[in-house]
Amino acid sequence: MGELNNETQAAIAGREQAGGSLAPPLWATTAFSSIDPAEAAESAASTRPTRFYTRYGNPTINAFEQAVASLEGAEAALAFGSGMGAIASTVLALCSQGDHIVAQRQLYGGTLFFLQTVCPRFGIDVTFVDATEPGAFRSAVRPGRTMLVLAETPSNPRLAVADLEELGSIRGPYTAVDSTFATPMLQRPLDFGVSLVLHSATKAIAGHNDATLGVIAGSSELVDAVWGYATLHGAVASPFDSWTALRGVRTLGVRVERMSASAIVLARYLEAHPAVASVDYPGLDSHPQHHIVRRQMSSGGGMLSFELRDAERAHAVLAALGLVRVATSLGGPDTLMCHPATTTHAGLGPELQAAIGVTPGLLRVSVGLEHIDDLLADIGQALG
Ligand SMILES: *Cc1c(COP(=O)(O)O)cnc(C)c1O
Repeated sequence: MGELNNETQAAIAGREQAGGSLAPPLWATTAFSSIDPAEAAESAASTRPTRFYTRYGNPTINAFEQAVASLEGAEAALAFGSGMGAIASTVLALCSQGDHIVAQRQLYGGTLFFLQTVCPRFGIDVTFVDATEPGAFRSAVRPGRTMLVLAETPSNPRLAVADLEELGSIRGPYTAVDSTFATPMLQRPLDFGVSLVLHSATKAIAGHNDATLGVIAGSSELVDAVWGYATLHGAVASPFDSWTALRGVRTLGVRVERMSASAIVLARYLEAHPAVASVDYPGLDSHPQHHIVRRQMSSGGGMLSFELRDAERAHAVLAALGLVRVATSLGGPDTLMCHPATTTHAGLGPELQAAIGVTPGLLRVSVGLEHIDDLLADIGQALG
């Protein structure tokens, strides 16, 4: 059998230790008993044991990890209790006092806040660059001092796209890409030579607004190294949420396909609407990095943002929505809209908000699984 397509992998991956069960068994346990002291000692000394103590590993969590590794074309994956758990553990596992990080400016609010406030406390220097400027990551690298280059593409909330080919060619020594908005169905950063891909699996991977989870994937050597620190950091994934997320993975292909198909129709509708000043969607020809999108993503995905004249208009549209719900998460079955300037990116302050395009009139949309006609009717009446 040749290499399977990701839609197929999503349906079948992570069953290696299921003992013939089609659905993964839920190992809701904190620890496993050993048959004798020698086995206990061996487990305690081994890397990533799955039957010892759940903070070190667990068969249900491991089934989810194997599924994500298959989807990302990775040797290994490691799950965490949240996307921020994955990001914080990875940064602190790889970087020490005196090290330097190159990160893009257009980042998820929590990641940006972590790099700005936590890293300096530990003597880790961060240089922020514009991900849309060709060569920006590479020219900010300080040879001998830079430990990690961190990107997020497409980015939250304005869907800026970083060039994975450029990132993959940088010997950071480590390069990591937050690929949450794309999911492994639309892009695989490791194929471009990036060292680690990370996700908030809370979003489209789990996909049903019922699990809080993060995951990283890459070479076994690197993932094992992050695991060594992560067992101490303690942002461990819950077996139940991993079980829920693996159930979500089974339908990831069809969900992402539907979200993308609806999002492009909505993006074109908004682009033509007189009340809308601009639309950011990677699937539109008008996206400033559309040539890069075409090279690295198989479609535009389910996330888009659009700009109204001011915050008052944006709030009025949110208040007028009926079907579409106002909430900050994304990637679930229902379409959600939020106002980044006063929610997800509120902590940044007006100056930084302006620098990353979080304008007062900006609204972010996570397109769900509803019929597109119902979405257009609701958003249309709210804009009117
Ligand atoms: C939500 C999100 C995170 C953080 O994930 P949590 O699961 O909420 O901790 C990180 N990056 C991106 C792009 C996100 O959307």
